[in-house]
Amino acid sequence: MRVVFLGAPGVGKGTQANRIAAQYQVGKISTGDLLREAVRNRTTLGLAAKSYMDQGNLVPDAVVIGLVREKLADPSCANGFVLDGFPRTVPQAETLGAVLASQGVALDRVVNFQVSREDVVRRLSGRRSCPKCQATFHVDFAPPRVNEICDRCGEPLVQRSDDRREAIEMRLKVYDEQTAPLVRYYDERRLLFPMDASGAVDVVFQHLSQELAPYRAT
Ligand code: AMP
Repeated sequence: MRVVFLGAPGVGKGTQANRIAAQYQVGKISTGDLLREAVRNRTTLGLAAKSYMDQGNLVPDAVVIGLVREKLADPSCANGFVLDGFPRTVPQAETLGAVLASQGVALDRVVNFQVSREDVVRRLSGRRSCPKCQATFHVDFAPPRVNEICDRCGEPLVQRSDDRREAIEMRLKVYDEQTAPLVRYYDERRLLFPMDASGAVDVVFQHLSQELAPYRAT
């Protein structure tokens, strides 16, 4: 299974990518998670990426492409992968295609997650995460049992710096300008699967899981 999850920030790609990767035993490659880990560990790459991320801008293509190349070679991706948040620009998509072609393989499907702009803003601005175990919550849709405290490890929850309103606006603008052209790019290559992602997590998961079942490793 080699699939890409495409869609604006806040459509639920990450949540579904975790579940699909667990169900089909494939690797999950989230460039956002990899970059946040680098920022937390204060690596050179993390320090360089932080200011782009805080403002809601894209990190330069060369940086994320390097991260993805490394991850694709990881044994966790031997059965395939779900790419979450990559590619986000046409040059990233072209590089991905070339890397896969050099291994004699290709993408199976690109799922385009669709949610109204209003819902995306509501999902992002209410999102909270645990700085210790990375569990995610939502103040309205998936609140923790105790206000602002992680259910799993008891740590106080935080809001991602790029989930502040100004950064959200920037991220959506960047999505429209730089990532939305990938919808047409993959449609022209007959890979696109449009997915209504406005429903509950379980409903979206069931639909997605059915669509991706043909690509499971045999
Ligand atoms: P995400 O968690 O996918 O919303 O990503 C958080 C931030 O990481 C984005 O706003 C970008 O600054 C950066 N980022 C993640 N993936 C990419 C990518 N494929 N290309 C460039 N920047 C990225």
